Amino acid sequence: MDSRMFRFARRGAVEYLEAEALAGLGFVEHAFCTRRGGVSTGDFSSLNAGFRVGDQEEAVMRNLARVGGAFAIPADGLVLMRQVHGGTIRVIAGDGPPPACVPECDGLITARPGVALAVKTADCVPLFFVDPVRRVIGAAHAGWRGTALGIAGRMVDALAAGFGSHPADLLAVIGPAVGPCCYQVDQPVRGAFAAHAGAERFLSPCPGEGRWMLDLALANRLQIEARGVPGGSILCAGLCTACCPDLFFSHRGSSGCTGRQVNLLMLRGTDARKNA
Ligand SMILES: [Zn+2]
Repeated sequence: MDSRMFRFARRGAVEYLEAEALAGLGFVEHAFCTRRGGVSTGDFSSLNAGFRVGDQEEAVMRNLARVGGAFAIPADGLVLMRQVHGGTIRVIAGDGPPPACVPECDGLITARPGVALAVKTADCVPLFFVDPVRRVIGAAHAGWRGTALGIAGRMVDALAAGFGSHPADLLAVIGPAVGPCCYQVDQPVRGAFAAHAGAERFLSPCPGEGRWMLDLALANRLQIEARGVPGGSILCAGLCTACCPDLFFSHRGSSGCTGRQVNLLMLRGTDARKNA
C-alpha cells in the first residue's frame, strides 16, 4: 500500500481505507470498507454487503445500516448497483428518492449531495472519480470484463458528456483489488485486451504455462490516463485483496465462497429534495 496517500481509519465498528486526497477535499465522504466491523459470520465475516452470495439477508441489511450510520448517509441515500461486469454507466439525477438498487450497470454518476454511490467488490477494482470543479462524482466496478470493455475510460467520457467535466480537473482513486501477484489469467482473458494500449505492461507472461498475471489496477490507470487525467491525479491503493484475507473478501483467495466489501462515495451536504 502507498501509505503516503492512503490510510486505514475506523468509524464505530467499521474499518476502512481512505485516500488522503479525497478526505482533504472536504465536500466528499468516501470509504473503501474492509470486511471488518459487521455482523455476518463464517465465510461472510463480517461486514458483508453482498445479497447474492449465500449470506443471511437480514445480516446484510444490518451491515449496510451500520455503514450508513458510520458515514452519515441519509436514510434512503445508499445506492447499490446490480453489477453485471458490463460497461453500462447510469446517472442518478432528478429530485425524487434515489433507487436503492440500480438495474444492470457497473458505473454510477451523480451531482446530488447525500446520494452515496456504492460498489461491491471481492477482487474486482473499485474506481472513484471526483470533479472538484463541477462537484460531480462517479463510482465504478471493474473486473476483467468491465476493464476490457473500458469502463474506466467510459466514466471519464460520461463525466465530460453529462456534466462538462474536464479530464484535467478529475481526481481518480483506484481501491483495493486483486493484484498482479495473485491474478493469473488464461488466453481468452488475455485476448480480451488485445486491442488495449499498454497491454504488455499490465499482462506479464508466466513462463511455459500459457498464462499471464494481470494487473487490473494498472490497466484501469492506463485507461484513465489515456483520457487526459494527469498521472499525478490518479491514486492507487496498491493493496491486494487476495494477499490480505483478514482485511478483505477475495474471490480468488477464498475459492469463491466469500462476501463483498462495500466501497462508498458521496457528496456531502443536503440534497435539494430535503429542502423542498
Ligand atoms: Zn496478491
